[in-house]
Amino acid sequence: MKAQPAPDETARIVVLGRQGSGKGTQAARLAAIYGVAHVSTGDAFRAAAGSGSELGRTLKSYMDRGELVPDDVVVGVIREHLFGPDAPAGFILDGFPRNVGQAEALAEMAGKRGLDIVVDLEADTQEVLHRMAGRRVCTKCGANYNVVDNPTKVSGQCDACSGPLAQRDDDTEDAIRRRLEIYETTTAPLIDWYRDRGLLAAVDAMGDVATVTARVVAAVEGVRQAKTIG
Ligand SMILES: [Zn+2]
Repeated sequence: MKAQPAPDETARIVVLGRQGSGKGTQAARLAAIYGVAHVSTGDAFRAAAGSGSELGRTLKSYMDRGELVPDDVVVGVIREHLFGPDAPAGFILDGFPRNVGQAEALAEMAGKRGLDIVVDLEADTQEVLHRMAGRRVCTKCGANYNVVDNPTKVSGQCDACSGPLAQRDDDTEDAIRRRLEIYETTTAPLIDWYRDRGLLAAVDAMGDVATVTARVVAAVEGVRQAKTIG
C-alpha cells in the first residue's frame, strides 16, 4: 500500500485526455486527494453565464446560439474564475486549455509560479471506441447503460422501466471517430507544447479507475519531489 499524498491547496494541475479517457473522473479524484478545486470548463462557463457580468453576457450569447465560444472569451472566463481576486491558490483544470493558443494564455496568467504538472491520460483508440460505442440510453426513462461494462439484465430492455434501449445519434462509431479526429488535430499539439516545456506526464489511462488514479498520483508526486530536491 502506498501512502496517500499530503493535501496541497496550492497544487496546480492540468488534466488532458480525449473523450472516453476518464478525464473528468480522474480530475475529480485528484481534487479530492489534494484538497483543491476541480475546475471544469463547463462549471466555469455556467458560473460566468449566471454572474451577469459583461463577459458572462457575451459568453451566454454564444452558448444560447449554440456557437463555438471564441478563445478570447474562454480565456477571459478562466482568468476571472482562476486568477481573479477570490481565486483559489490551487486547482485541477479539466477541459482547458484546448489548443496551443489557450495554453500560451494560461502560461501568461499562471505567471512565475506556473503549473506543477500537465497529466495526459493516454487511452487506446480501440478501447475508447469500444467503450463509447457500447453506450445505450432508455428511450422511455433516460437511464444510461453500457453493453460493455454496465449491461441491462435483459438485452435491449431497461432494468428500471422495461423501455426499449437506443444508441444516441452522436454515439455511433462514425460520430465517435469524427470527434476523436477533431481532438487529434486541435488538442494533440498541446501534448508536444507541454512536453517541450518539461511539464508533461503521460499516464496510461487503461484499467480500473483506482489503478489509473494511483498512476496519476505517482506522476504528480514524482514532480513534486524533484522540485523539493532541486
Ligand atoms: Zn427506462
